[in-house]
Amino acid sequence: MGSGIHKVGVLGMGLMGSGIAQVAATRNFDTLVIDVSPEIVAKGMERIRDSLKLLVGSYRKSSGKIGIAPEEDERIMARIKPSMDRHDLTACDIVIEAVIEDEPAKKQVISSLAAMGYDELLVSNTSSISITRLASAYPAPEKFMGMHFMNPVPVQPGCELIRGFLTSDETFQTVTEFCRELGKEPIRAEDKAGFAINRMFIPFLNEYVGLDTTLAIAQVLEKELGPAYKPADLLCKLVAAGFYGIKNGRGFYLWDHGKKVGINPAVQRYLRK
Ligand code: NAD
Repeated sequence: MGSGIHKVGVLGMGLMGSGIAQVAATRNFDTLVIDVSPEIVAKGMERIRDSLKLLVGSYRKSSGKIGIAPEEDERIMARIKPSMDRHDLTACDIVIEAVIEDEPAKKQVISSLAAMGYDELLVSNTSSISITRLASAYPAPEKFMGMHFMNPVPVQPGCELIRGFLTSDETFQTVTEFCRELGKEPIRAEDKAGFAINRMFIPFLNEYVGLDTTLAIAQVLEKELGPAYKPADLLCKLVAAGFYGIKNGRGFYLWDHGKKVGINPAVQRYLRK
């Protein structure tokens, strides 16, 4: 590999971590996955298996134009090694941190990794937390940066690359090369809240699009790209009931002249079910 990376560690086997592990293994990297319990790791492995099944289905339907060949899924699964021993991560060339979006939790994970003797490349998949602040928990901040994958990782082509204040040129170049080896398009973004994509995406959703339009977009994408884009049940119900968001004053929240005045009681009831 041009980046010199062979062994990838993924810390956190939730929605994003499992997607990242799947992509790394698909691209021939030996991939080690870790989470807080064997049950969560097993659930993440199951998620990967299901996702690969869908991709095999797409391959068959498209006569091999998209997706993965039927014999490939087992080969990909075999490259993913689940572990409960964090010390195994010290053998990795890069560790991708994908634990919950909580700064103290992420810093704790980063500093404990260093305390075990890990001193190679370390990247965070944070959606919004400052890379420079997270890097302060790593004794080698020059080897730390952000790699913001998009959900669902096996399908989304882009990945934001964010340099912290102390990230070295060498780290940035190696991670950019690694990003390409994963089959993702590197998108350079500044270390500012929300980076680039979420800065555009959140206001777009909040102020502009409306839930009815969001639903319509999701339905188009689902038709074109598959069930990963299936709109959430609650979104379908809200739109069916005429709750379109700020644009008509009623959505997940109730609004008065653009000001949020409370949670929609129908949403509260739905979430309590
Ligand atoms: P998730 O809740 O599905 O997964 C987080 C995982 O981290 C859980 O499995 C949890 O058990 C694990 N975890 C928590 N503390 C841990 C620890 N100390 N050691 C090991 N594992 C630990 O969350 P997610 O959606 O996968 O998000 C993970 C990261 O990716 C967050 O930083 C999030 O902002 C970012 N992200 C999410 C999305 C998205 O659409 N969900 C998109 C881009 C980036």
